Amino acid sequence: MYLKHIRPYQLKEVVERGDPLLVPAGCIETHGPHMAIGHDTIIVEEICARIAEKVDVVIAPSFDYGPTGYALGGPADGTIDPDYAAFGGHVKAILKNFREMGFKAIYVIIMHQGMEAPLALAFKKAAAELSFESILEQGYPRGWWGVESLKDEAGPLSGHIDVQPMILPDASPPAGGDHAGYNETSFLLATRPELVEQDRLDDTAPWYCRQDEEKNSWTANVEHGQAMVDAVVAAWVKRIGSRL
Ligand SMILES: [Zn+2]
Repeated sequence: MYLKHIRPYQLKEVVERGDPLLVPAGCIETHGPHMAIGHDTIIVEEICARIAEKVDVVIAPSFDYGPTGYALGGPADGTIDPDYAAFGGHVKAILKNFREMGFKAIYVIIMHQGMEAPLALAFKKAAAELSFESILEQGYPRGWWGVESLKDEAGPLSGHIDVQPMILPDASPPAGGDHAGYNETSFLLATRPELVEQDRLDDTAPWYCRQDEEKNSWTANVEHGQAMVDAVVAAWVKRIGSRL
């Protein structure tokens, strides 16, 4: 179910049922001459849609404009980099609203750079700050953690907002990351083939398209993509199931 589509009575139902909220987070970044520049968000959206076929979840509108550091070009190349402080503030405000909607389990899913990169850190920082602030906002006094009965009543500080890589450890192998190479090209071929044009690859394609003699952007294929998608979805269904 998509958050954008639901009516208020349905929001009440999904919150009461304890359905988790999945939040795709990505960026606009050039991905070689052959792939859609929105890949890192699109692939998370495609994975979320497949998770939703197997378990009751709500899928939030994506955070499309995450930090890229212009590591792969600028706007004219198809890469956008936001102001990081502004992005972080936006992320925190929206995550806070998701919690106020009543979602108890929120999963932010990322397939861009690493978990210590600016995109993931913006979400992790916001989640950490919100976990402390929400306790004071609920009316607990300063010093609450030092009073055992209040600490137990307030419950755990972490876990409400879980920021994770799209490829959970259980999915790897077969799933793996790269940039527009064998893995990412295969991911997109298996989910949105109309957004890949392998015949655009030629001698001028960047190094990251040809990282491996055998496994590269040219040899990327649906079979490998589908195996990765299946493994990634299974790992997420297992992770979400363990929380329900
Ligand atoms: Zn990518």
